[in-house]
Amino acid sequence: MSQRTYHILINGTVQGVGFRPFVYRVASDLKLCGTVQNGTQGVDIVVTTTPDTLKEFLHTLQTTLPPLASIETIQTEEIAYEDFSDFQIVQTQEQGERSVRIPPDVSICAECERELFDPSNRRYGYPFITCTHCGVRYSIIYDLPYDRKNTSMKFFQMCKACEAEYTDPLDRRYHAQPIGCHQCGPSLSLWDRSEELGVRREELLDVASQLLLEGQILAVKGVGGYHLMCDATNEEAVRKLRERKRRPTKPFAVMVKDMRMARELAHINEMEEKLLISKERPIVLLNAQHSTLSAQIAPNISRIGLFLPYTPLHLLLLHKLNRPLVATSANVTDEPICTTRESLEKLSSVYDYLLDHDREIVNGCDDSVVMVVKGQRVVLRRARGYAPASVTLPFKLTKRTLAMGANQKSTVAIGFDDQVILSPHIGDLDSIGSVAYYQKNIETLERIYDFTSEVLVHDKHPEYESTKLVKQLLTPHSSLLTHEVQHHYAHILGVMAEKGIAGKVFGVAFDGTGYGDDGKLWGGEFMVCDYEGYERVGHLNYFKLLGGAKAVKEPRRVALSLLFDLYGEEVFRLKNPATEAFSQAELKTAYLMWQKGLNAPHSSSVGRLFDAVASMLGICQVMSFEGESGMGLEELYESGVEGSYPFVYENGEINILPMLEAMIRERDVSVAVSKFFHTLVEMVVTVYEPYSKLPLILSGGVFQNSILLSLLLERFPDALIPNNFPPNDGGIALGQVVRQFQQ
Ligand code: ZN
Ligand code: ZN
Ligand code: FE
Repeated sequence: MSQRTYHILINGTVQGVGFRPFVYRVASDLKLCGTVQNGTQGVDIVVTTTPDTLKEFLHTLQTTLPPLASIETIQTEEIAYEDFSDFQIVQTQEQGERSVRIPPDVSICAECERELFDPSNRRYGYPFITCTHCGVRYSIIYDLPYDRKNTSMKFFQMCKACEAEYTDPLDRRYHAQPIGCHQCGPSLSLWDRSEELGVRREELLDVASQLLLEGQILAVKGVGGYHLMCDATNEEAVRKLRERKRRPTKPFAVMVKDMRMARELAHINEMEEKLLISKERPIVLLNAQHSTLSAQIAPNISRIGLFLPYTPLHLLLLHKLNRPLVATSANVTDEPICTTRESLEKLSSVYDYLLDHDREIVNGCDDSVVMVVKGQRVVLRRARGYAPASVTLPFKLTKRTLAMGANQKSTVAIGFDDQVILSPHIGDLDSIGSVAYYQKNIETLERIYDFTSEVLVHDKHPEYESTKLVKQLLTPHSSLLTHEVQHHYAHILGVMAEKGIAGKVFGVAFDGTGYGDDGKLWGGEFMVCDYEGYERVGHLNYFKLLGGAKAVKEPRRVALSLLFDLYGEEVFRLKNPATEAFSQAELKTAYLMWQKGLNAPHSSSVGRLFDAVASMLGICQVMSFEGESGMGLEELYESGVEGSYPFVYENGEINILPMLEAMIRERDVSVAVSKFFHTLVEMVVTVYEPYSKLPLILSGGVFQNSILLSLLLERFPDALIPNNFPPNDGGIALGQVVRQFQQ
């Protein structure tokens, strides 16, 4: 058969994952001649061959991919005939639009781990050992294409031995951008609060682990930021960390050496194990076992967040220590994760020693957090390992869109063609530092993807920092379009996009609070939606949040307001944990607020209802961290309890007062909590019933509650929930991108 020349463009996760040497090997096996190179749109291959061999070549490429690679599209076209004498990997060209995916940071691979502990290997004990199949990516990238010169590895000149591996197409480290070794790569340093200790390289990790064993707190530079670490079995050390970080009760994540150690601390099912050992290595929330762990790790909570070491540095440390380590993101309250020495300064009174290294973190990235509910993955924080990988939509976007996300757990997203790229978890926009970090994340996406937006999409809430920023970005002559998307509609849209749904759906958005079309704070919403719009077909009745923002942190305020709704002035004589959490004078002031509606915005939020229930049942009056009341309710749920409380559903409104009235009379708190959960399920059953031909979607921050989610999934096994994006506000940006407007 006659030879022809073909140009093949492959798009997907194909850069920085050993794709070109893979193509080289496949081509060499088939004795093909031609070239392969990285481009800004993917990997470009030119081969001269017969149509049959071409078919075989493409088939082999698709079926024997390297571990981190994935192919999105392959386009093949015949071009003018070219004669090649061999197959070559050509250096990168820069041109055209950027649609290549940035590979996320993944954990160390098995081969590198073997070398790390092999005394005969030249990288024995090297804390930054890596290859094409593993290690840092996103966190070190300044720009695309993914080449060493566009990463923070550009400051390290490769030694002869590393260079030989880097340039050998048959080596596992061929074009592995972050490679280095003891001689030429990044290195560790150990500091006390003021100066470097001058410990020899060979002893550095021994000294660091000794310090941890002695109960010291170490700041340790990782992949996307610094961690604060201490011995998780040392009560005193964990208490010291809590005190210094002013974090009284919020649970800490724990890094364990291996699965064996993990099993000593928690009950782990098959799917949870898969997630723990996956290359993304997220923190997985598990049911804790009784163990030697300090009770201070997660006070009064029977769940624990565990993760396995994901860098060679973590592996070396844990092998030396052989005990679990508290590993929590180093950040000042409300500020983003520390990625530089400068930002770490603010925590200098929290840690005793610093284990640092000299590879710059270009893009900060927190640890991801996931859990398994009824066999489904729920992502609570989408960051390292998962971000910033993209989503392919079931349709093409008409405009290049920047979505600003929400205000809490914020993320941003850019959308073009049928692609959406979502930033990693940025955090709450409650400080100047976090807003700056948020803007940096937008700039990073724009720079890396060479993206300029035509449309800005934002939340309806006028007070969200993300909304205010849109106003700033709009110059008087700007041709930028802006659109707002209702918060809970965005929650549902995000799941529609993830699942590739085209038609109408029935969405249940149980949430903290989001700005409603009527200016009230929604959060217990039932809506029929498609991409063009939605109809709010049901919601919880409104109640007042006494003290506005204060009520979000103080469940007792919401409880009190609902008690006023139930009993009016009788409340002054009512014996209930919520009323007992106030003085009589405070009760009187609160009553006036309630009566006159002063600083008492209306809300239909299920999240706030959770708070009210936790307060009325004496579980939590003032929260020290978000979600505390919900966790408290989870602890008291008993699966053996049956039954639910009454509620009234009329004219699209669920009256929750009958439920609360029955609930506070319950003698047993566990029974009350369990029946409360069942009542929420019954509410969904009731409102969904007339629409039950439509797919059911559950999203919103309240679905981080594993009890409620599992009860609903038991009742509605076909219900769709987000599996790749958070049900909380971290998923809002995705929903905003896909909202279709009449332009
Ligand atoms: Zn490797
Ligand atoms: Zn080297
Ligand atoms: Fe929300």
